[in-house]
Amino acid sequence: MNEDYSAKEFEEKYTYEGNDLGVTFLENKIQFKVWAPEADSVSMLLYNDGDVSDEDIQEEIKLIYDTKGVWKTELSSDYEGKYYVYKVARNGDLNIACDPYAKAVGINGDRAMILNLSKTNPEDWDKDKNPFSGKKITDSIIYEMHVRDFTIDKSINAKYAGKFLGVCESGLKNSNGISAGMDYLKELGVTHIHLLPIADYGSVDEHCEDVYNWGYDPKNYNVAEGSYSTNPADGKARIYELKKMIKTLHDNGIAVIMDVVYNHTYETSFCMNKIVPGYFYRMTSDGEYSNGSGCGNDIATERSMVRKFIADSVKYWAEEYHMDGFRFDLMGLIDVDTMNAVRKAVDDVDKEIIMYGEGWDMKTAVSKPDTMMAKQENACKLDRIALFNDEFRDGMKGSVFEYDEKGYISSNTENTKEILNGVTASPEWADSPQQVINYVSCHDNHTLFDKVELANPGITFEDKIRQNKLAALILFTCQGGILFHSGEELMRTKVDEEGNFVHDSVRAGDKVNSIKWEDLNKEEYYDVYTYYKNLINFRKLHPSLRFADSESIKENIKVAGNDGGLVQFYINASAVEKNTKKICVIYNPTKEDKKISLEEGKWKICCDYKKADCDGNREVQDYVTVPAVSGAILIQ
Ligand code: CA
Repeated sequence: MNEDYSAKEFEEKYTYEGNDLGVTFLENKIQFKVWAPEADSVSMLLYNDGDVSDEDIQEEIKLIYDTKGVWKTELSSDYEGKYYVYKVARNGDLNIACDPYAKAVGINGDRAMILNLSKTNPEDWDKDKNPFSGKKITDSIIYEMHVRDFTIDKSINAKYAGKFLGVCESGLKNSNGISAGMDYLKELGVTHIHLLPIADYGSVDEHCEDVYNWGYDPKNYNVAEGSYSTNPADGKARIYELKKMIKTLHDNGIAVIMDVVYNHTYETSFCMNKIVPGYFYRMTSDGEYSNGSGCGNDIATERSMVRKFIADSVKYWAEEYHMDGFRFDLMGLIDVDTMNAVRKAVDDVDKEIIMYGEGWDMKTAVSKPDTMMAKQENACKLDRIALFNDEFRDGMKGSVFEYDEKGYISSNTENTKEILNGVTASPEWADSPQQVINYVSCHDNHTLFDKVELANPGITFEDKIRQNKLAALILFTCQGGILFHSGEELMRTKVDEEGNFVHDSVRAGDKVNSIKWEDLNKEEYYDVYTYYKNLINFRKLHPSLRFADSESIKENIKVAGNDGGLVQFYINASAVEKNTKKICVIYNPTKEDKKISLEEGKWKICCDYKKADCDGNREVQDYVTVPAVSGAILIQ
């Protein structure tokens, strides 16, 4: 492995700044460029088929060295539709690799496809718009979901079950005629869906129909995953179908965020590692791959051409697929300069695109001294990039790793500080509510419903519902961006065949992971769904729950009390609203009903432990009783 890749000399000699790596369609010809510094020769092998089982090479074409480590060639337009790989000779080794800048690939992503992307656009693509335009990240209500989980349940008979086109299928209903799929999302009222990885990943063989994975194992960064298309063997299908999904969601008022994994790759046989061995990864002093990610390798984001690769890739998704946001997996393994370079690249497309990530503090063998990582403590160095508030998450339900640890909703009032930091979107590391994503559960770890049971063995079904509802009431009255795991509003559970709750369902299959649409037929489940729906509606109606800056929060939110874990605060709604003067929010996580005094005047109850009906037709004055393990929202 070359230790000089991070040296100034190497970077000065080989940092290429052009925006034409990969395939470029020019007038009557097609240009190919690949970055392969220190290679002895580079050629491309052309095929008629994208499947590696077809070994029939049609042609081998030599590339010529251009500049800054870049090799190039040009072919006539007749080559469109062919597949190719690069053959790179270096220090006596010959490596075959897919194009790291491939934008279309054959089945399983082993060969790149020569495809003019202008032919992959759905109807009216040029008129497509971000439905969230004009709003801020603090206005977002994000629904984190998995493409396959969403429509694979047989009860809804989706035509495109488990596929991109399933996500945007309208008219889906469960056996009782209750809306499912996209119609359900519209009724629920979320502003964004956040999709678990949808870029090409390696763990699912695209020849098979029934293999399950979340997709945190990147193979081709600039291509859609084939198993979510109706025909993975047709390089065009996955691109068209993903765009069609995005267009349909946009037309229905739902913005789309993709989960991106630029911290590690599926395998170190990743194409760029074959073209420039060792360049893409961090190595330890023992010569091993650094493994802060726990996935076998860490990407060396601090190197100039890796940074460029990531910025180019994110910009490409924003531009070509009209993505409205990006969620960065293990962002704490990516350096601050790279994240800001990504922000700048994305701004060229649309400044309103949302960015957030997992800013965990993680060990990794960075290759340059003084590299600052994109973790919580460096949040103020990140330009318009938000981070997950895990202190709030664990404060609410107990540590995700200590299964039996109770959180605030389970009457553990020691966590009141973390809850208040969520309410005001002000964990220690954040400068502004626009840097905070509050959440209680996501795809990782137990579902909220399962965690509540694990932390409270023997708990009754009714009490589980109370805790779930209290969690929802707290979440939707917090400042900052809001995210929740798909199905949290349906008391989602992930149980294996032995009846155990699944902590990590990455490979657990459809039975464990699918959204169970039939649950909506049960009264209690429909009730919790309605509770979420009404809270979402309430949040959207009240901009004072969504202040965009810390000053407004400090000025307009007054905590009236938090004795013994009982939280009461007032929001000066009149600062930004016409019809509401004040909002009073109360959380009672204790095991006793509490009689709580109110500021003077009449108050309308908009939400209590039973209902979040929003019309506020019940009035109280002077005090209100908030039952054990529940909350209340009142307005005047
Ligand atoms: Ca794949």
